[in-house]
Amino acid sequence: MLLSTAFSLGMSLLSPATALEAPPTPAIAELNTGPRTRLRGNWVGRQPVSPSLKIVVMAGHADSQDMHGSGTSGAAVDRRGAAPMSPHMRDELFWNRKVRDAVVALSKQKGLNIIGYDPGALSIAKASDPRTNWSVARRLSRQGDYILEIHFDAYSPHGYGSGLIPALNRKLNLIDESLAQSFGRFPRLFRGGLGGPRRGISILEIGMLEGILEANLRNPKTREATIQAIALQVTDALMLGVRGKTSSNPPPGEVDNAPPTSNPQTNSEVE
Ligand SMILES: [Zn+2]
Repeated sequence: MLLSTAFSLGMSLLSPATALEAPPTPAIAELNTGPRTRLRGNWVGRQPVSPSLKIVVMAGHADSQDMHGSGTSGAAVDRRGAAPMSPHMRDELFWNRKVRDAVVALSKQKGLNIIGYDPGALSIAKASDPRTNWSVARRLSRQGDYILEIHFDAYSPHGYGSGLIPALNRKLNLIDESLAQSFGRFPRLFRGGLGGPRRGISILEIGMLEGILEANLRNPKTREATIQAIALQVTDALMLGVRGKTSSNPPPGEVDNAPPTSNPQTNSEVE
């Protein structure tokens, strides 16, 4: 009786929006990034990397707001009419930036040679502008730096799920392999080869921006724990890759034979 009274009191304090979005748990029990990519690659990253390899982390769509390729708004905004997390950017970029900064902070603590990059403007019209993610990635990738761009995928049925879309301008290495083992493995030539990977960016799709993952990010009570849990999974994967300690049983084959996709119902990913 007491319990049920307390329960109904507790429930009545919840606004309808909160009740829809997430259970009021104080922390996340376990990171749930949703399904892995439904299109699977079978490439293997074998190239060893230097323990001091410089890693540069970017937020996907950081310079492409209010224009083509501005990222997903997420299911909460698009499907349920929730307010965007920020009036200045799509929700994907809001979360991409949080995860980028958390990954850099945590990875630095753990001794990785890592920095974050931000273009400093939310809309840069020309991709060739030297400040854009693409321009900086092309330049630093040529120097041998590892460029990682954080993304969240579109919600279903448009999104594919979590996973790594690796860079196309170099041999695939043990960091690519480690991230793919941890998050999932997109075909190497996903959608015919995206603009970022052609410029040396490995795109990491954390998960589709919907369901438990999005709810745990949006709920203020679980937000920080969720961002930290994502950052920890990324950092752990980076460290295993840098140390050359990826799983000894990667999937066989080096040829990516996944069929190219030309699905027009695709996400608003960078091109
Ligand atoms: Zn994206």
